[in-house]
Amino acid sequence: MQTLQERVRELIIDIPNFPIEGIIFKDILPLFRHSDLVKELVSEMANELRVHNPTALVAMESRGFLLGMPLALELNIPFVCIRKKGKLPGEVNGISYTLEYGQAEIEIQKSALSPTDRVILHDDVLATGGTANAAAQLIQDTGAQLVAFSFLMELNFLNGREIIGLNNVAIHTFAQF
Ligand code: AMP
Repeated sequence: MQTLQERVRELIIDIPNFPIEGIIFKDILPLFRHSDLVKELVSEMANELRVHNPTALVAMESRGFLLGMPLALELNIPFVCIRKKGKLPGEVNGISYTLEYGQAEIEIQKSALSPTDRVILHDDVLATGGTANAAAQLIQDTGAQLVAFSFLMELNFLNGREIIGLNNVAIHTFAQF
């Protein structure tokens, strides 16, 4: 009998040289064709996150939304989106950060969090950690407390854990590659 971990890993598919030469893209969409498995996964991930007594779950555009929303539902807390610059209506706070090639900018709605919030930040993949680190800064700038990072998977060889570890909050990764 396979474990949940084994069943999930089997449905994360390596796509070599996508979106550019040299990158092995982790395709998580096959996982979402198995609703019972996703329900089990969300329940297991939420159980680990509950210990932090979170009051909001913030997810990263765009694949972070896929598990972020059901995790927020399971935890019974508000769901908040961080999106790429220019996508969110109303007043926003933004932060720009350096990617391997060039700059990126992400934003959050000013009305989304308050200083009393205890926030979980969720994304699908922890790679170099640059994106999650910028998002952590954006959350902390609202005055809210970041209490944990949550990722479906971590790419160990890129050492993203070292960068985001500087935030001194818990890091949960369901699968490691
Ligand atoms: P990073 O800032 O390097 O940690 O990259 C994290 C972001 O890039 C996440 O939002 C991921 O969705 C995406 N990402 C990075 N590497 C991969 C990969 N090998 N496969 C799929 N998504 C990736």
